[in-house]
Amino acid sequence: MKKNDYMKKIYPNVQARDILEVFCFEQFSGEYFDLSQTPIVRIPFSYQQSLPKGGYQVLEGCIGCHICYEVCSQKCIDITQIPVKIIQKHCLHCAKCAEICPKQVIVKI
Ligand code: SF4
Ligand code: SF4
Repeated sequence: MKKNDYMKKIYPNVQARDILEVFCFEQFSGEYFDLSQTPIVRIPFSYQQSLPKGGYQVLEGCIGCHICYEVCSQKCIDITQIPVKIIQKHCLHCAKCAEICPKQVIVKI
């Protein structure tokens, strides 16, 4: 409390001041989930940091077989293009697509 002299002005009652603990976040990250929607919505966020890594992406070499799409419970793989593209905001990071891809071109980010 000695370092936070201004607290005396805001909280003149000493006992009230004692319950205060001053802190600050240097960095944090998290993810917002909305499981009530189909497919689910997954949005990462962070403060003074790059977005948390995670998830999967499709590299060159995809043959457009769509097996990944068939096993994806979220159907969050855009199969209108080759290589197909994972729609990150709906992805569950379950790795089913990566495990089954015959070309092994789905990799962890
Ligand atoms: S399973 Fe692999 S090769 Fe087939 S469409 Fe998906 S990413 Fe492409
Ligand atoms: S990791 Fe799971 S949810 Fe995400 S695209 Fe692959 S199969 Fe779909």
